[in-house]
Amino acid sequence: MKEFELIKHFFAEQNVKRKDVLLGIGDDCAVVLPTDHQNIVVTTDTLVEGVHFPKSTAPRAIGHKAVAVNLSDIAAMGAKPSWLSLAITLPEIDYDWLTEFCAGVFTLCEFYNVQLIGGDTTQGPLSITITAQGLTPENGYLSRSGAKTGDWLYVTGDIGDAALALKYLNGEVTVDDSFVEQIKTKLDYPKPRVLVGQALREYVSAAIDISDGLMADLGHICQASNVGANIVLDAVPLSKAMHDSLLFDDAINLALTGGDDYELLFTVSEDNKVGMETALSHVGTTVTCIGQINASNTITTTLNNKPVTIHSTGFEHFSSAP
Ligand code: ADP
Ligand code: MG
Repeated sequence: MKEFELIKHFFAEQNVKRKDVLLGIGDDCAVVLPTDHQNIVVTTDTLVEGVHFPKSTAPRAIGHKAVAVNLSDIAAMGAKPSWLSLAITLPEIDYDWLTEFCAGVFTLCEFYNVQLIGGDTTQGPLSITITAQGLTPENGYLSRSGAKTGDWLYVTGDIGDAALALKYLNGEVTVDDSFVEQIKTKLDYPKPRVLVGQALREYVSAAIDISDGLMADLGHICQASNVGANIVLDAVPLSKAMHDSLLFDDAINLALTGGDDYELLFTVSEDNKVGMETALSHVGTTVTCIGQINASNTITTTLNNKPVTIHSTGFEHFSSAP
């Protein structure tokens, strides 16, 4: 199978056909026509085998995750995802691998009505780069920079399961059989909080998706907003798998510093709290208040109402490089 045939067979034929895509795969560029008075938000994320996913990861999971991490960024901006481009580097043309990979990509695309409009296909070590675009009403996007002293800090879902799964796969922790499937699903098939992001748009002062670890990503909000925060550790939502597999201190540490959660972390003023909680109750995702923004310029943590210290921050690329 040649490159052209491969593109036609695996990528050009798809079920999502959006009206705002004038030209999709097949020309030198894709052409889209956004509606008047909308902002287009754009993000790119790369997944490299052995860095962002273990070599043993199922191709369907790789396809899913490559799309999900990008849609998670779109969600954090309060935008509705619309278009994707996919640059893929493959060691070889493996028909079965590509079939499964595409199933992972297109299942998410179809769920969110996102169209793959272009990309690039090359040979080399396995790596996937996706650029996703999304739409918001003009100036209606969320950002990291709007958190204010006194705002409440919230997080969606449970934190730490994906990091626990990684530890389990590396043989660093034992996990009861009854939890293994659940935590591996959190690692391999993260659910981007796309509907939550859009529901939050009117209520939230700052938002980010948790990819590098809760602590590190809260750090990004604090830095961008020029504020500090306190996290109430007792309130951080942990799954039964986390409670069951780790001592409380280790579970909290992993929840704060592990990555790959793809939950949303956001801040809400006292005035918008009830509106936000009502809006989210319609979406059906749980949210938990885990602390409050303050003027301190640092992140502190409390347990049983007493200050405690957390040592490391989240996963950071090139952290040991000169
Ligand atoms: P060019 O050489 O003009 O850049 P290519 O031969 O690389 O074009 O690609 C032909 C068409 O197929 C383009 O529309 C491109 O966007 C699309 N395409 C190539 N690879 C992919 C891919 N992995 N996923 C989606 N579309 C792709
Ligand atoms: Mg060209």
